[in-house]
Amino acid sequence: MQDNIAVLRQWIAGSDNIVFFGGAGVSTESGIPDFRSTDGLYRQEYKYPPETILSHTFFERDPEEFFRFYRAKLIPDKSVRPNAAHRRLAGLEREGKLRAVITQNIDGLHQAAGSRRVIELHGSIHRCRCAKCGRPCPEEAVNTGEGVPRCPCGGVLRPDVVLYEEPLAERDITDAVNFIRAADVLIVGGTSLAVYPAAGLLRYYEGRKLALVNMGATGYDESADLLIREKIGKVFSEV
Ligand code: NAD
Repeated sequence: MQDNIAVLRQWIAGSDNIVFFGGAGVSTESGIPDFRSTDGLYRQEYKYPPETILSHTFFERDPEEFFRFYRAKLIPDKSVRPNAAHRRLAGLEREGKLRAVITQNIDGLHQAAGSRRVIELHGSIHRCRCAKCGRPCPEEAVNTGEGVPRCPCGGVLRPDVVLYEEPLAERDITDAVNFIRAADVLIVGGTSLAVYPAAGLLRYYEGRKLALVNMGATGYDESADLLIREKIGKVFSEV
């Protein structure tokens, strides 16, 4: 495994066109549970599975339960900080080596670490708006308190995250495809690559340096040029 990390280190040293594509596993070392690990949200007892509660239909049908789950499970407490992976990625961007972070995460930790070009495919808990009139609102109005938050117009306030059944923003897809297609080194990490259409974006990569850094197996393991089964924070602290 050490050899594989050394190869990744070499790839990174030799490139100024690196793109990172990640998911919930990038933030587990910061203390935010992912969905599919053994202590992930799918293994916790809830009345409905997360993908049911986090769907557009459920949000409209039972906003009370939606917000109970959302605030309890998706809003990290204030002590949560970026980890070594977030920090190293931000450093690589500052060094002019990394072109973009493409993330399925909604936690804002890449930006908190200093990354500037972050494509948030699934939106962010830090942006909120009215589901009816579209007016933006402060995140506190949605992410704190109890019950269903309301806009002065009477509509329900919601986080600007992409719920199941909702489409990704066209602009984000186009930007992500362009960065991935042009990338020299593509590092994919902390994602089960089970959520589409996000995972399908990897097919646009045309290079031969696809590094996959993930604890669990994924459907893309066979396509990886370099496979590293280690914690992503540890790997990034060594490259
Ligand atoms: P996932 O839960 O399906 O998969 C996470 C993957 O990361 C697993 O394969 C696991 O083995 C791996 N992993 C966990 N910790 C790791 C570590 N320290 N180092 C390396 N690998 C590690 O997550 P996903 O693929 O991102 O898909 C789930 C969806 O849930 C996404 O759409 C995402 O938006 C959302 N989500 C986001 C957050 C967040 O913003 N932090 C948290 C939970 C879920």
